[in-house]
Amino acid sequence: MTDSATTPSTSSSTATPATSSPATSTSATQAAQAPRIMVIYTGGTIGMVEDRTTGALVPFDFSHLIENVPKLNRLGYELDHVAFTPPIDSSNMNPAHWAHLAQLITDSYDSHDGFVVLHGTDTMAYTASALSFMLGNLDKPVILTGSQLPIGEIREDGTENLITALEIAAARTAEGTPRVQEVAIAFGRHLWRGNRSTKVSSTNFGAFRSFNYPALADVDLHITYRDDLLWHPAGERPLELWSSMDDAVDVLWLYPGISRDVLKAQLECPSTKGIVLRTFGAGNAPTESWFVEDLAQAVKSGKVIVNVTQCPAGGVEEKRYATGDALAQAGVITGLDMTCEAALTKMMHLFGRGLSAEEVGRYMACSLAGELTEV
Ligand code: ASP
Repeated sequence: MTDSATTPSTSSSTATPATSSPATSTSATQAAQAPRIMVIYTGGTIGMVEDRTTGALVPFDFSHLIENVPKLNRLGYELDHVAFTPPIDSSNMNPAHWAHLAQLITDSYDSHDGFVVLHGTDTMAYTASALSFMLGNLDKPVILTGSQLPIGEIREDGTENLITALEIAAARTAEGTPRVQEVAIAFGRHLWRGNRSTKVSSTNFGAFRSFNYPALADVDLHITYRDDLLWHPAGERPLELWSSMDDAVDVLWLYPGISRDVLKAQLECPSTKGIVLRTFGAGNAPTESWFVEDLAQAVKSGKVIVNVTQCPAGGVEEKRYATGDALAQAGVITGLDMTCEAALTKMMHLFGRGLSAEEVGRYMACSLAGELTEV
């Protein structure tokens, strides 16, 4: 598991109400009706402001959230907030941070209507995928967002993304239940399922896409939800926290000309239990005998190998070409239309639950949180 030296901490201002709480409000009834949202700032561009003296971008102090974004007051929500100390660039995100995030959400789950996680864009899709598996039976919104330009800039996308994420986290159905009951990414003009999302641009304000699942909502003049596409948990069950993630996993990216030495180095790495094999097209790979034999040998030795296409859209259809079928014969499991981010974090989660290789292999091809289209 991840080195404890990288384990995060949160600022002591954890969950300090940014607006008056029901206990201190002059209108207790009004406050009780206002959606109560927990904002968790992990780091990333969105929370940066320009230091007026040096001109450098520095993380803003979340105890002054409303001062930095005064428009938030007009939403009329009760906002609590907690920040990672220090805030991190999301390139430094790891399973210990995910466990910390999942724990923060679990701790405030009953007292809050929804959660907004402010996160750097670079690894947001991994965190969203990981949280979707770690928070079992989730029936409240966990909305991740970030931005390409910091909130402190004159022209920026952070304020809109934050406000959209808060509105989505607060949205309710006519019956009063949370409209969104899953981990999702609100970014630019869309709400995407978290474990279907991928970062597609380092410059575009529409930084995320989900190629194999339509947007859950479109953010235009109105936020238009696609209720038929939203995830609904099966029955009413208490939130189940699975904080243990086993990082004994790897990604093996195929390319024409990959050598046997390179392949073996990854397949035979003693500290991995599972590998996401990034294949060509509909799940194809070389059929040279050494290649297929080495994969079969790795499976026999107890490794779980999951076939995920390198194509951003579409998925694995093992039987479509002999080259894909050879992988299935070697014991490689289909990852269907999962993203690499989802497949990798799902394996971490399943191994983290202490499941056997056989069980992990079986669950990889089943939908746990809407991450794949079952056939
Ligand atoms: N490098 C930053 C991060 O992922 C970029 C961003 O915030 O969008 O933390």
